Amino acid sequence: MIKVCPHAINSTSYKINFRKSPDTINLAVEELRNLEFSNDDKNFIKRHGAKPPFKNGKEAYDFIKNSGIKIQFAKLPSNDIHAQWDINEKSININKIYKNNRNKAVILAISEAILHEAGHAKDNDGDSSIQEEINCLALNAMAHRTYEKKYPNIYNSAQENIVKNGVTMYSDIYFDKNPYRLIKRIQKSYSHLPAGDIKHPADYLALAIKYNNF
Ligand SMILES: [Zn+2]
Repeated sequence: MIKVCPHAINSTSYKINFRKSPDTINLAVEELRNLEFSNDDKNFIKRHGAKPPFKNGKEAYDFIKNSGIKIQFAKLPSNDIHAQWDINEKSININKIYKNNRNKAVILAISEAILHEAGHAKDNDGDSSIQEEINCLALNAMAHRTYEKKYPNIYNSAQENIVKNGVTMYSDIYFDKNPYRLIKRIQKSYSHLPAGDIKHPADYLALAIKYNNF
């Protein structure tokens, strides 16, 4: 999901803590701030060689706040791109088709997307790799499972793309005991990226995905 989009238009700028009335992003950030991951999930993701950039939502929240990162709705290249980290603007951009959407499932999905993109922001470069994606996908996949437990069946009836084909799909395949669907999905989206990079050395799954060796 990392792509630089320096020409985002029709966006509404937002910085956490600076708005009084809760809007969709504000509500999503508040969920993020209270997010914890379960020990079972933290253990499971190790089998994918994932090293999540944050240990909980509060750590991500503090990082966003202390780094002066904006979170805003913006026009993104397609409705299938839910969020992007724009290093030039120091901005996490959420697809503006969800602006003013108050569906709780969408708010939670945006919270997951913010967490994923904050993971990309943390290394302070504009590049990504398959290993970096595996690390950042671990964050939103774990967050999804925590929210599902906190708000049972919350995602079930949501028809929005960011929920159905975004966060729910990724959590399902990330936590499937058989990694085949995860491998195929990452290959589809990220095979153009290097397996790893200097800050995210490729573990076995990233290498298997890159070289189609599994
Ligand atoms: Zn990503």
